[in-house]
Amino acid sequence: MERTRTKGRMSDARFDELRGLLEERRREIVDEVHHKMRDVRDENAAAPVQGVRDEAEISEAEIQDDIEFAVLQMKAETLQKIADALHRLDEGTFGYCDECGTEIAERRLRALPFAARCTACEQARETAIERRQNLHAARRGAASLFPDVAA
Ligand SMILES: [Zn+2]
Repeated sequence: MERTRTKGRMSDARFDELRGLLEERRREIVDEVHHKMRDVRDENAAAPVQGVRDEAEISEAEIQDDIEFAVLQMKAETLQKIADALHRLDEGTFGYCDECGTEIAERRLRALPFAARCTACEQARETAIERRQNLHAARRGAASLFPDVAA
């Protein structure tokens, strides 16, 4: 019995399901971002006029803003990933590993609908990134010990 798997020939059921997963995830994030934006606006509206806050309050507010910005940035990146995944779904390359081309396990796609790699390739990649980051951290650490040399 010969079964050849061609890219883009996934069943309609799988296509619809994956598309549903992605769109649902996208809606969730868009909702979250909208809530967040509204919260920020409300906070700004409720914030006391400038000059009333002391320095500690201001720096605390700045840290909070930084955190919120980082969260929004992360969500924006996720939305971008979902948009890419939807595009790849239409192209017929979604659901297959970017690296090795094998079909990504259904279970993995459920947990991570915009996964671009199979578990094995993702792990290999993460290990490589971690190694690089550790190397950078080690370099930064060494550099901070000798600021004069690094400068
Ligand atoms: Zn792979």
